[in-house]
Amino acid sequence: MGGTFDPIHHGHLVAASEVADLFTLDEVLFVPTGQPWQKTERDVGPAEDRYLMTVIATASNPRFSVSRVDIDRGGPTYTTDTLADLHAALPDAELYFITGADALAQILSWRNVHELFGYAHFIGVTRPGYELGNEHLPDGAATLVEVPAMAISSTDCRRRVAKGRPIWYLVPDGVVQYISKRGLYRPAAAADRPAR
Ligand code: ATP
Ligand code: MG
Repeated sequence: MGGTFDPIHHGHLVAASEVADLFTLDEVLFVPTGQPWQKTERDVGPAEDRYLMTVIATASNPRFSVSRVDIDRGGPTYTTDTLADLHAALPDAELYFITGADALAQILSWRNVHELFGYAHFIGVTRPGYELGNEHLPDGAATLVEVPAMAISSTDCRRRVAKGRPIWYLVPDGVVQYISKRGLYRPAAAADRPAR
């Protein structure tokens, strides 16, 4: 499951858990992006913070782990590179790419879209506020799955922190504490943060 995870929240975790169960996956690898080209309109939080929050959020689940492939590659993240690197690292694995309805809708705007479908089977999960349709997807390339509706977004979590509003229960407790400890998403504190 690729994502910015800025921060990771319970919408991501429920989707991953549900898909892992439905498709009897051995493992879900969360892959925080490097510098996502879709999000140039705003600064994305430091990669190491996003990586550590993802580790904190997934640590207690023996089937969840976190991959650094996109962060360590550096530069903008292209999902073809992510899948090529994972395929090289795990040549015998059957790869599934878990994505929310909004991201699936953007698949056709991704570079090398047909190469993507060759690397992995795509699983599109429902997300409140977004329509999930596979009318433009190649036959058999993606499966659409309904997951418990979690109307949570990282954007909303960041806005809440910026306004001093709570994010308890939207993200795991350890992530609330990490955000507070590092002063993330608070405009005034941003300048104090060491660049990574
Ligand atoms: P942002 O608001 O910064 O875009 P986000 O909440 O959309 O953050 P991402 O890191 O962009 O989180 O999402 C990673 C993946 O998780 C995407 O495929 C996205 O569609 C999916 N996803 C995010 N939130 C949910 C949710 N609440 N329910 C289902 N899928 C989700
Ligand atoms: Mg998003």
